[in-house]
Amino acid sequence: MHIALKSVSLSLLAAGLLTACTTPPGKNNYLDKTYKITILHTNDHHGRFWPNADGEYGLAAQKTVVDKVRAEVKAEGGYTLLLSGGDVNTGVPESDLQDAEPDFRAMSRIGYDAMAVGNHEFDKLVPVLMKQRGWASFPMLSANIYQDGRRMFDPYAMFNLGGVKVAVLGLTTDDTAKMVNPAQIQGIEFKSPIAEAAKLVPELRQKADIVIAATHMGHYPDGQHGVNAPGDVEMARAVKGIDLIVGGHGQNPVCMKAENVRDDAYVPGQPCAPDRQNGAWIVQAHEWGKYVGRADFEFNNGKFKLVKYQLIPVNLKKTVATADGKTEKV
Ligand SMILES: [Zn+2]
Repeated sequence: MHIALKSVSLSLLAAGLLTACTTPPGKNNYLDKTYKITILHTNDHHGRFWPNADGEYGLAAQKTVVDKVRAEVKAEGGYTLLLSGGDVNTGVPESDLQDAEPDFRAMSRIGYDAMAVGNHEFDKLVPVLMKQRGWASFPMLSANIYQDGRRMFDPYAMFNLGGVKVAVLGLTTDDTAKMVNPAQIQGIEFKSPIAEAAKLVPELRQKADIVIAATHMGHYPDGQHGVNAPGDVEMARAVKGIDLIVGGHGQNPVCMKAENVRDDAYVPGQPCAPDRQNGAWIVQAHEWGKYVGRADFEFNNGKFKLVKYQLIPVNLKKTVATADGKTEKV
């Protein structure tokens, strides 16, 4: 009896090992199925929960855009994640005077899934930041900020999209220490985000099918960061294995006109080609919620392919010249 049981459990064990050999632990088990995965993103919100005097952007209009895309993707059987590249704080008095409570609460209502911690999250005292963390229904992520020797935030969050496991890693510029009042960050250390990513990305590749970094580090074309700390391009080149970097801090639309050359005269409504370095797509949606970035991917048999990318303007009123010489509002 004992022997029979033993042999049954041994063969189960063998079967388990066999499965483990063909499908790495924690990886997607479904073969030959195409998953539609859309990543929506914003960054550098800076207190703009209301529209401006011309009726541009604002979190109510942003929700309309996000809801519409989500419904569209869902109708096609796809999945959506909404990420922020950080710097929710600081910009307009109606937000600043309320410690950005309307902003964090509205972002929760819009249904953000995660955000990177930006340098401006340290403009106020740490207890305010902790209060904001309570208002946010989504995780504030940063792998490289340490308080008294321990990580101050969760380094990453895991999402399961119909069986596909997505890791979102948070990183913050190590320039933060230079950008805020030193008295407010005593005991807090901003380590190199690239060094943290180099440690964590290989670990996350074992746990997840897709690895995304939500960062607040800046996009410097061709890695020319000058006096600033290294940004997304430098990280993508240094750390292999990141599928997508949802960035912030530079407050640029990251739309490239040639390899390593960003189109700094980007006009709303025009096509936008994101940057790509060492296999990682790099996106950024300008600032203040002017755009919602939309990256439509397909995941199939371990391959994560960008099908379409666009920056959706949120009620931007800028007038542009069209090909036929007329003007139109975008
Ligand atoms: Zn910033």
